[in-house]
Amino acid sequence: MQAKLTHNKRERSQIGGGTANIQELSKFEENAAELTREDRDHSCGEGNARVRGQAGLLSERRGSYPVIDFRLLNTTAHSGEIGTKKRVKRLLSFQRYFHASRLLRGIVPQTCLHLLDEDYLGQARHMLSKVGRWNFDIFLFDRLTNGNSLVTLLCHLFNLHGLIHHFQLDMVKLHRFLVMIQEDYHSQNPYHNAVHAADVTQAMHCYLKEPKLSRFLSPLDIMLGLMAAAAHDVDHPGVNQPFLIKTKHHLANLYQNISVLENHHWRSTVGMLRESGLLAHLPVESIQDVEQQLGSLILATDISRQNEFLARMKTHSDNRDLSLEDADHKHFILQIALKCADICNPCRVWNMSKQWSEKVCEEFYRQGDLEQRFQFEVSPLCNQQNDTIPSIQIGFMSYIVEPLFMEWSRFTENTPLTITMMSHLRKNKARWRGLLLKQHNSEDNSAQMNEDKSRTSQEVEHQ
Ligand SMILES: [Zn+2]
Repeated sequence: MQAKLTHNKRERSQIGGGTANIQELSKFEENAAELTREDRDHSCGEGNARVRGQAGLLSERRGSYPVIDFRLLNTTAHSGEIGTKKRVKRLLSFQRYFHASRLLRGIVPQTCLHLLDEDYLGQARHMLSKVGRWNFDIFLFDRLTNGNSLVTLLCHLFNLHGLIHHFQLDMVKLHRFLVMIQEDYHSQNPYHNAVHAADVTQAMHCYLKEPKLSRFLSPLDIMLGLMAAAAHDVDHPGVNQPFLIKTKHHLANLYQNISVLENHHWRSTVGMLRESGLLAHLPVESIQDVEQQLGSLILATDISRQNEFLARMKTHSDNRDLSLEDADHKHFILQIALKCADICNPCRVWNMSKQWSEKVCEEFYRQGDLEQRFQFEVSPLCNQQNDTIPSIQIGFMSYIVEPLFMEWSRFTENTPLTITMMSHLRKNKARWRGLLLKQHNSEDNSAQMNEDKSRTSQEVEHQ
C-alpha cells in the first residue's frame, strides 16, 4: 500500500507571544539561554527563520562531529598562556582523532542480536512486551541488548505501531537508518548518549498512548514523534550551547548562535534519513514535510525556549481552546510531549531517576573542568565544588520540570500515568531535599569540628 502523507507547509514551530517571564528564569535556563536570548527576541515575531526556506534545506554531512577545537581554546585572548606545547600537541593528535573517530571510539555496528546469548535475548524480548510501562528499565534493556537499546526499541515500536506496513518501509533501510542514528550518539558522553535517546523514545511512546492524544494521531504523527525522540540529541558533543559559542565552534557560527545544538541534531538526522533512503519511495512533498516537522519537533527541545512553549500551553489550557483536530494544535502538543519526554528523568522511579541525575551532573562537571583548564569562566551548574547534585536537581525540578509537567497533567487530565509521574516527582524531590539537608549538616559539623580543633590548639598554646 502506498503510504499517504499529509502535506502541511505551515511554519509549525512558530510560537506566538514570546512573553516569557524572564524574572522567573532560574540559573538552569540562564545556563542555556544566556547567550541566545537576544537573538531569540529578535527572531520570535518574524516567522521562524530556523525552519523556513525548506526548498533550500541543507542536511549536515553525516559524522560532522562537533569536536572541540583546542587550538581556538588555547589562543583565545582572555585565556592567557595556558597548557604546555606538549599537552596541546597531545590533545590535537591521537586523542582528538580517537574521540573523532567512531570506529576508534569503539562504536562498531553491534546490531547482530543473534550473537547474544539466547537467555539475554529472551529477557530483552520479555521487556519489550512491557514497553509501555513507566517503570521500564532502559539501563537493563541496554545491557540485555548489548548496547543496542535504541535500534532494538525503535524496530519494535515501528512494528508495534504498524508503521512498517503503513509506510511500506524497507526493513533493511530502516535498520540502516536506526544504526546510523545510534552510532552517531557519543558513547563517551555520560548523559547525552544513545541510552538517553532510547529513554526519551520509550517515554514518548508512553505519552503517545495517552487517551487525550492517541485518538487524534495518524501513523505519520506517530512516526514523527518516535523518530524525533530517537534523533533529538544525535551527535551531541557533551557540552552546551554557551560553551560552543564562547569557544567559537564552527557550529555556533553555522547556526548564528540560535539553537545551535538542536539545529545540528535536526540537520544530521535529515542527512541520515536521505543517506539511508528510508523514505525515498515517497513523494518529494511528503519527504519535505517529514523533514520540516522533524525539525520543528527537535528544535522545540531547546531548553532556552521553555517559557515560550509554557506560556502558549498555559494560555490554551486557561482558554480551553485546544482542539487536536486542528493540525497546528496537534503538532504543538507533539512538541510538548517530546519536551516532557526529554526532561522526564525526575518523574521516573527513584533508582533510575538518581542514575540519570548523576550522569547529567557528571557531564556538567566535565564541561566545568574543561572550562577551568582553559581558563574560561566556569558555566553555571558546572562547578563540582559549588554545584552539588542535590542542589542542581532541586533547582531543575522546581524551575523546569514541575511547571511543564503541571501543564501536561492539566492537558491529560490526570491519567494513571500522569498521577504516577507526579508522585515520583514529589517523592524524588523530597529525597534530594533530604540529601541536601544531610550535606549541609555534615558541612556544618565539619566546620564546627574545625573551629573546636583550632580553639583547642590555641588553648594548648596558651597553657
Ligand atoms: Zn535530550
